[in-house]
Amino acid sequence: MTLSFSDTYKLNNGIEMPRHGFGVYKLTDEKRMRTALETAVDVGYRLFDTASFYHNEKELGDFFASSGLKRDEFFVTTKMWNTEQGYDETLRAFEKSQKKLQLDQIDLYLVHWPKQDTFFETWRAVEKLYDEGLVRAIGVSNFEAHHLDRLRTSANVLPVVDQLETHPHFPNRLLHRYLEELHIVHQAWSPLGRGGVLEEQILIDLAKKHGKSPAQIVLRWHLQNNISIIPKSETPSRIKENAAIYDFELTEADMHQVDRLNNGERVSHAPDVMYVRSEI
Ligand code: NAD
Repeated sequence: MTLSFSDTYKLNNGIEMPRHGFGVYKLTDEKRMRTALETAVDVGYRLFDTASFYHNEKELGDFFASSGLKRDEFFVTTKMWNTEQGYDETLRAFEKSQKKLQLDQIDLYLVHWPKQDTFFETWRAVEKLYDEGLVRAIGVSNFEAHHLDRLRTSANVLPVVDQLETHPHFPNRLLHRYLEELHIVHQAWSPLGRGGVLEEQILIDLAKKHGKSPAQIVLRWHLQNNISIIPKSETPSRIKENAAIYDFELTEADMHQVDRLNNGERVSHAPDVMYVRSEI
């Protein structure tokens, strides 16, 4: 399987999205964030994943404005938070994100979590932003099969991406297959399980075998499973390490070894907890 860092997915609306991006959750110290972003751009990252909830869209926008990157050389994803859902609320949230990011057009706008009460109104607003050309693509995050089925009963535009918690402890395989059927790209959030999977002996052994780190084994496993990844780190050496996964390949047996780590343990909420509880 020949893969490269500059590979893209052609999304179901025809636009190209880098497969391997950089997540910026919890990057809030301005100086450290800038160093991290400079390192990421230097090593070749071109997709940046933020959200209004991360409180760093302004800093990310400032970085782009001064980075020397042309607009078509980077891809930005952002998301509205749960309290910003609903028709008017989503349109207002988008405007705020757009201002902070200092961009006329956002590449990918995601519904951060499914919310039962404002479900259709939020998507209607997201579709409006898409129809008006303010976003190049629209998608969802933390949507399980039943949320997607509900959305499909009235959506005019289908999501291009579903961003989901996915790592060796929680591989989300069933949902992955469903997304493939729907031509929706599966993007893994917390692809490293927030670092929590990296102590697993299976990963340490595979790392030794390939002369790589456990984090590199996990990221490569995602790619070979046809999953998009957005690992986060603010440490320059790790940012480089997380990009250096294109010079080796896991065998089928190695892949099965990593599959054995599935223990159903999430690092965050199950989507239905967010779905039904209006206060979060
Ligand atoms: P992650 O799995 O990317 O883990 C990040 C942590 O792993 C780092 O803070 C660091 O402690 C450790 N780490 C990173 N590289 C390492 C390396 N090479 N060696 C050892 N340890 C390393 O977790 P994340 O930040 O939660 O997820 C990645 C991105 O996904 C976020 O930044 C954000 O953009 C997105 N995200 C989305 C949602 C959502 O609901 N849509 C939720 C959480 C995160």
